[in-house]
Amino acid sequence: MRQSNIVAGVYLLQSTNEFDIEYSYLVNIESDYAHKIRRGSFVTVPFGIGNKSTPALVWSISEYDESTYQYKLKYIGELCENIPVMDDEQLDLAWQIHKYFFCTVGDAIRCFISKDGYKQKSVKILSCALSEQETQSIIDSNKLRNINQVNILKLLMDNPRGISAKEVINIIGLSSDSAIKTLIKRGFVQADTVLESDERIHYTPTYKMTTYTPHQLNREQEKAYNFILKLINSNKFAECLLHGVTGSGKTEVYMQIIANVINNGGSAMVLVPEIALTPQMITHFTARFDDKVAVLHSRLTDAQRGTQWQRIRTGQAKIVIGTRSAIFAPAVNLSVIIIDEEHDSSYRSEDSNPHYTAAEVAVMRAKQTNAVVIYGSATPSVATFHRAVTHKIYYMGLKNRANSKPLPECYIMDMRQKRMQGGQSSLMCQEMRNEIIKNYCQGNQTIVFVHRRGYSGQVLCTGCGKTLKCRQCSIPMTYHAGSNRLVCHYCGNTIIRPDKCPECGSETFDTRSSGTERVAEELQNMIPDAKVLRMDADTTAAKDGHVGILSRFASGEAQILVGTQMIAKGHDFPGVTLVCIINADSLMNMQDYMAGERAFQLFTQVSGRAGRAQKQGRVLIQAYDIDAYPLTAGSTGNYMEFYRNEIILRENLYFPPFCAMCTIRFSGEDDKKVFVYTKAQLKILKSQAITGEDQDVLLLGPARDFAVRINNKYRWNITIKADSREKILQILQRWINVKKGGNNISVNIKFE
Ligand code: ADP
Ligand code: ZN
Ligand code: ZN
Repeated sequence: MRQSNIVAGVYLLQSTNEFDIEYSYLVNIESDYAHKIRRGSFVTVPFGIGNKSTPALVWSISEYDESTYQYKLKYIGELCENIPVMDDEQLDLAWQIHKYFFCTVGDAIRCFISKDGYKQKSVKILSCALSEQETQSIIDSNKLRNINQVNILKLLMDNPRGISAKEVINIIGLSSDSAIKTLIKRGFVQADTVLESDERIHYTPTYKMTTYTPHQLNREQEKAYNFILKLINSNKFAECLLHGVTGSGKTEVYMQIIANVINNGGSAMVLVPEIALTPQMITHFTARFDDKVAVLHSRLTDAQRGTQWQRIRTGQAKIVIGTRSAIFAPAVNLSVIIIDEEHDSSYRSEDSNPHYTAAEVAVMRAKQTNAVVIYGSATPSVATFHRAVTHKIYYMGLKNRANSKPLPECYIMDMRQKRMQGGQSSLMCQEMRNEIIKNYCQGNQTIVFVHRRGYSGQVLCTGCGKTLKCRQCSIPMTYHAGSNRLVCHYCGNTIIRPDKCPECGSETFDTRSSGTERVAEELQNMIPDAKVLRMDADTTAAKDGHVGILSRFASGEAQILVGTQMIAKGHDFPGVTLVCIINADSLMNMQDYMAGERAFQLFTQVSGRAGRAQKQGRVLIQAYDIDAYPLTAGSTGNYMEFYRNEIILRENLYFPPFCAMCTIRFSGEDDKKVFVYTKAQLKILKSQAITGEDQDVLLLGPARDFAVRINNKYRWNITIKADSREKILQILQRWINVKKGGNNISVNIKFE
């Protein structure tokens, strides 16, 4: 029994860097929660003048000593027992994240909460209202006029226990719930409203699955397997890059390693870019390891995730497969963390604090339990490959395809010559158009790839194919018609738009950008009989709605698929024999230093789409700058050619991995105010970066963010480069200590 009062030191879950401190609250020893409260407990506390009930986490517990406090302490509000208490290992990890990513403690803690225990939601569960036979006869009849309705009924038949409406919308790829409503109204589908705790929604729906046949490892695989297993068994933290060409059989290596790990009582984590786009990986793992697998992805409801986490926490599930945030799952006895497609940008948390990458957190976790981190990729990120080259991490290569299918042939089409053919308005040259028509006539499928929208405003010289770039950053500048200026969104550098190309003297420039919609339209006009599917941010309003589009394409419903880079990932399309890339230049010329790397990865990946099946595939790439190394290396799958060129550029321009880099983004509704404030902060930051000691520190800005205005808020950036992350963190801390003002301006800190 506790005699005196006790004090809980808490961190608020929602805070800002300036107010991110441990606040003291009294624990009422009369209360029924007093004996349950401990370090790691979630509570609510009355905060501020209005004593608003605010979520918080108990960081420390101590005896109350009146003399240490000059003011009267408030009492803790409630104890939130439905959120599992965080253990010391998790708290330690949260603290490291807080320090390393310069986020608040609350930001770090929120990563570890699987479900929002502060509120209970209700969910709609759908199931077939009629018997299986009756439902099937409806599907076979003419009663349904909409393909979505057919797909919904089929999905519900596959899942007799019922699935949530949200899942149905996501899996089928619906843009609204009108098809569901119709089915309910007609009495074919039944809807029950249940609380999130209902076990039916904790159940992962089945997709059409293939069976898995294990393979005898080939020599290369065997070598990698033995090497990695030895690392794991030596029970020390280590990292290894598994660099294997597409189809080299990395998955098989992962699975055999994991089989070994769980036999020895350990557990494993496999991170994948996006579950919905890598169904094969999930299928293989569940086929092989059955109920030892827990699958975590962004479509899970809070309660579903909670159940999966519970299975993981209790050791029932020994293998976690999931997207980025799965790295926070409470795995016990973690021996190995595999990050598949290591280079993928989805591993980076872009929209919310902390801006972590899965790999950085994986390393922190692995160090805690002496586990091994494996990075798997056919096109490793430059940073990871550089670490392997400089012997910071181990390296294993798989150079041959395990299934010996041929790689597709790849052709680069020089648009400088072809520009005038096929009419000014066409986005595709005549040769590409002919190939698409020919492929259609032969009964094969075509994928047409258009880079993602919104990168308009770049100026490309049609004479030499070069894009006008910033002298300091080598990043494409953006044209502002109003002032007739080119602006670099990285460093803020600006010039009047030149009349002539500085490279070749030509006077014709192209500022056009093309969208998926235009291309789809053109293709439809070209082949009126073809069914053309389009996939981009517009057509996939539901978060994972593209799964529906992809499976419709895979089923052969359409002959042509037009899309953004979403279509480059995962998924086997056996019927696809032609892949076209329309605007390779804009891919290579996105406004940041990673553009070349991403373009290379994409060319390699997209090329891998064609000819997965028995038929030989072809890849056509339209480009102006046909000698650019991301293109030449990507089209031939030559990783070393790309890396050798890219690493020189990075070193010369002082970009990662040769420096640490951080962007501070200021945003607010009044453009001028945000700019003025940003400028003032830059001045303070500069004064905090003491010259002499911090010689290698560069402070750049204020520069407009690439996305000038988002949600009515204007964005201005300051970029800091230094030779170590530690240095940047120090400058940031000093700045936060003296920073003032900035009401209504939010600050966002992001490391590269
Ligand atoms: P990666 O992930 O490296 O691109 P996958 O793991 O998808 O490659 O393997 C490509 C194909 O090769 C798969 O169809 C897989 O079943 C097959 N495969 C893997 N290992 C072997 C092996 N040792 N022998 C024969 N086929 C294999
Ligand atoms: Zn030129
Ligand atoms: Zn610049």
